[in-house]
Amino acid sequence: MHTMLDRALNNYSVNATAFKTAWYYNSFRKTYKFLKKSQWWGRERLEAYQLQELRTLLSHAYANVPFYKELFDSLQLKPTDIKELADLQKLPFLTKDLIREHLGEIKAKNYPESSFELTRTGGSTGYPLQFYKQKGVWLTRLMAYTKVLMGWAGCSFLDRSVFITGRTEPWKYQLFGRMLVLSSFYMNEEHLPDFIQKIKAVQPKYILTYPSAITLLATYVNNHKIDKFLGVKTVICHAETLYEWQRKLIEDTFQCNVHNHYGLREQAALGGTCEYNSFHLFPQYGITELIDGKGNPVTKEGEVGEIVGTGFHTYHFPFIRYRTGDLGVYTTEKCRCGRAFPVVKEIKGRVQDFVVSKTHALVPLTRIHHLVAESSQQVKACQFYQDTEGELVLRLVVAPRYTDADSKKIHKEFHKILGDGFTLTICIIDCIPLTNRGKFQFLVQKLPLNSYR
Ligand SMILES: [Zn+2]
Repeated sequence: MHTMLDRALNNYSVNATAFKTAWYYNSFRKTYKFLKKSQWWGRERLEAYQLQELRTLLSHAYANVPFYKELFDSLQLKPTDIKELADLQKLPFLTKDLIREHLGEIKAKNYPESSFELTRTGGSTGYPLQFYKQKGVWLTRLMAYTKVLMGWAGCSFLDRSVFITGRTEPWKYQLFGRMLVLSSFYMNEEHLPDFIQKIKAVQPKYILTYPSAITLLATYVNNHKIDKFLGVKTVICHAETLYEWQRKLIEDTFQCNVHNHYGLREQAALGGTCEYNSFHLFPQYGITELIDGKGNPVTKEGEVGEIVGTGFHTYHFPFIRYRTGDLGVYTTEKCRCGRAFPVVKEIKGRVQDFVVSKTHALVPLTRIHHLVAESSQQVKACQFYQDTEGELVLRLVVAPRYTDADSKKIHKEFHKILGDGFTLTICIIDCIPLTNRGKFQFLVQKLPLNSYR
């Protein structure tokens, strides 16, 4: 999302105002109605729909987006040359580097400046990125898709719930007291007793959370032998990889179903687990490909590939064959639910990592990495390194215009979130080496985390 939904709910008061306008509401209803119906379409019909959407998007990009006009021309292609879905592979990938270099040229020219919203993401893959999206509407659409996903998980927005997210204030109530919002930054010995009292009082039907945050809550509940206090039916995880051991820990602790959602602020792919716990990607949202290290499609059962997304809702700033940096496991398995959606067995590569504070507390890094992007536009890549409690090294690869002022801003933002629990050292380097397996590692953690659990 990666924290897309996260952000939507965090900005609820602003969004609620936007939501009141009839236009937004109608757009929400229309999208939701369409999704409810089309989720049962057969494969052929879904693919026909995708092809039509793809061709419309490409024609628009060619006519209105300088970057794509130039790209098509340089390949001597016309949008009309894309006659079937496989033809999409004639186009090169859109990388984060390309977006950084061509930010202005990827903006569509046929929309008023006031309709654009600049977005920044830290990206779990460690490559901070800025791009544009259409103001307001993205939320309406996301809410419609999310309503469908929540339905798959047996929940509704109106249910009593707990929402755990990265906020600077420890807790608050939303949706007229029906939603308790807790900050993942305060999942520690000091605040957890109070949090647990509050959760008990709300009696939530579901908890929406980062896996790392609910792991801290579950571990605390188990360690302190707190009785099974929750009538929680479902825990919905998002924004990070949900590891199997965590799924089991959550299930065992809260005796509930565990669901998993996947999305990107870039709006290039969106999906989640259905009633049978298979992971599905919405074909109505865009085209998702899995590619190997050489850029070829992954075709073997169980093989891991990078998720490449083409987003049908990205007219303001088209994401066409966008390399997300996230990994998925390929499968041709059909799901018992009967939906003909592509199934990705598992989403990997959503980094979720913990750092250890001076007081030996585990602090999840999720959302902290957004801070780098939000603090400085001059950071090209970043990585955390820790080998001592309470000390963090932030390795940065920066653009030429990076100055001391950027470092100061980063220090300031980190202090706001991490307080006195950490000292941060910024270290500018030329490049961040990949792991032996060729993967980017957002955190190099040298401390034995198991001893802190
Ligand atoms: Zn299914």
